Amino acid sequence: MDRLAKAIAADGTVRVISAITTDTVTEAFRRHETSPTATAALGRTMTGAALLGASFKDADRLTIKVEGDGPLGSIIAESNSSGGIRGYVHNPLLDVPPNEAGKFDVRAIVGNGMFHVIRESGYELGLNTEPYVGSVPIVSGEIGEDLAFYLANSEQIPSAVMVGVLLQNQEPFVAAAGGVLVQMMPGANEHIITMIEDTIKHAPHVTKLIADGATTSDLIASALGIIEFEVLEESDITFKCNCSLERARAMIASFGIDEVASMLAEDKQTAMTCGFCNETYTLDEGELIAILGELQQS
Ligand SMILES: [Zn+2]
Repeated sequence: MDRLAKAIAADGTVRVISAITTDTVTEAFRRHETSPTATAALGRTMTGAALLGASFKDADRLTIKVEGDGPLGSIIAESNSSGGIRGYVHNPLLDVPPNEAGKFDVRAIVGNGMFHVIRESGYELGLNTEPYVGSVPIVSGEIGEDLAFYLANSEQIPSAVMVGVLLQNQEPFVAAAGGVLVQMMPGANEHIITMIEDTIKHAPHVTKLIADGATTSDLIASALGIIEFEVLEESDITFKCNCSLERARAMIASFGIDEVASMLAEDKQTAMTCGFCNETYTLDEGELIAILGELQQS
């Protein structure tokens, strides 16, 4: 089971959130059959959504939308306060060769454009509150740096963000995925900030640590070095979508009497696929007759 941990250090002036998302990214890869580079792009964004979602106490749903003009198309990743994460990319099969450093060339498939973060509160309670949307230009396209740029410029929180996905050539293909988010709160000491920056610069890559068996606390320690920290809470996270047959029925019903009647007359069934998780719901003749009956009565 994937885990997420929140910690504070330096009298609460430094906040750190770490996440291990290997199973979550594996599930996204399995459902969307993403190419290696698309898996890296989606996995980094989903991990970012988990980290960022946990950093905002007031938001119970957070969505990252990376709208680049590259061949991948948009990346959408969402996390909620129950630890559910889901996401997709528009062109999952698209792939490009590694960059000069031998790494996934995520930047090349994302391109230029906008990086949006949408925060909602009251989602779990079913309240339709106005979402808060923050947008910045895509500055890197490698996702982690874009997240840090967003936090510094849209939220005025100087931050360091490390997110990664490590793939291998055998099942389960995703060898490790996860990330660390370090936020400097008002009053953070310059000396502490410099120490942390230096520690991060020399730390092993987060996915290397996870592949070697690191815990969420080990990941936090890798960013803080000798600075002591206190873990405030730890929780499970997992790939989870809120689609259901019931929601698919409601969606079909919303098309109206004429549309449902023609589905019934032409194909005697209809299928709906959820974009977030790729699950397909098939509504057979009996279901369509029942929906039509309900629509005609109301
Ligand atoms: Zn779904």
